[in-house]
Amino acid sequence: MQLTSQYSAANDLIALEEKYGAHNYHPLDVVIESAQGAWVTDVEGRRYLDFLAAYSAVNQGHCHPAILRAMMEQAGKVALTSRAFRNTQLPLLLRDLHDLTGFDMALPMNSGAEAVETALKAARKWGEKVKGIAKDRAEIIVGANNFHGRTISIVGFSTEPQYRDGFGPFSAGFRNVPFGDVEALRNAITPNTCAFLVEPIQGEAGIILPPAGYLREVASICRENNVLLILDEIQSGLGRTGKLFAYMHDQIAPDVLIIGKALSGGFYPVSAVLSSREVLGVFQPGDHGSTFGGNPLACAVARAALRVVVDEDLPTRSAELGAHALAKLKQIRSPHVVDVRGLGLWLAIELNVPARPFCEQIRDRGVLCKETHEKVIRIAPPLTISPGDLDWGLEKITQVIEQI
Ligand SMILES: *Cc1c(COP(=O)(O)O)cnc(C)c1O
Repeated sequence: MQLTSQYSAANDLIALEEKYGAHNYHPLDVVIESAQGAWVTDVEGRRYLDFLAAYSAVNQGHCHPAILRAMMEQAGKVALTSRAFRNTQLPLLLRDLHDLTGFDMALPMNSGAEAVETALKAARKWGEKVKGIAKDRAEIIVGANNFHGRTISIVGFSTEPQYRDGFGPFSAGFRNVPFGDVEALRNAITPNTCAFLVEPIQGEAGIILPPAGYLREVASICRENNVLLILDEIQSGLGRTGKLFAYMHDQIAPDVLIIGKALSGGFYPVSAVLSSREVLGVFQPGDHGSTFGGNPLACAVARAALRVVVDEDLPTRSAELGAHALAKLKQIRSPHVVDVRGLGLWLAIELNVPARPFCEQIRDRGVLCKETHEKVIRIAPPLTISPGDLDWGLEKITQVIEQI
């Protein structure tokens, strides 16, 4: 077999992808070849400001030099040991996660969906072994319009018809309640409920903020009923909302915290479940695992990525730049804008028409953003973006929306 060594034109690459790849995405046709900070460069040399940041996986900016250095150094030593043996990096990442968050323990995985699955397994086993729920009876409550990943068990409790269509049958033991509704949660809890899994702010649903005080009430309902509060902060965490974690706006702490995405600054898939000794202590050797989870390359990258979040105080940057951006976006004058909302540098412009044509025109002016849920333009640049670049990008978006 002969492999063709190089294609230069974007159209050739797009044609290859369409021909040989499954069509489970509908990307904007910009073929990125390199990136630095908040900017990406396409294969034909055009530069774009990145207002998506890989769904918040590159909060630290593309190819952050400190994370790159850690990755190169570790890749030259040892990348993968499997957890059949120990390695020098995993213990240090576990300590960093504890020191940064206060949780007793962590269990590292790779993708976000795997970490969600891990949290669900921990919650069910805790339900049986600690709470005393009868075997195979544990129930987990989730929020409507949730997004927690794409595995069969996770899409099984999605309320989005497309995520589920054709993929059944699904796992039992999940119940949906409207997001933001504390009474619905209270009423859905039974003696068999082991956990409530929720995003503090729903990202994929279109940056949906719950009513003020929601999380605090949720935390107290869970505590009263001996139900674990599991927060999925895969997208909202690590600075995106203007705090290290979104739950910190409500001065609560979840029983289980799921993180991913920016945990690696975009270099590598790294995720983790953080919790107490009581919860993660339910796992015995052989109960759960992953060939790549906790590998030394992942751990070295994650340690460097966390250090950037702290050293560059990305949560504060996000709060300041986000407040500024929200005020600017609220000045857009267009009959198509229904709502402008967000927290930190995680903003949404909701339209009354499809957002895709807007995103295409915004791209043509040098800014990359992607519609979510058809009518929402999400704005989530790297948190390291300069105030000048941010204003430049917001100006392009404003021009396009006001002109259409
Ligand atoms: C992206 C995301 C996931 C899934 O993460 P993957 O790495 O794509 O599996 C889960 N939950 C939330 C809130 C996310 O934003």
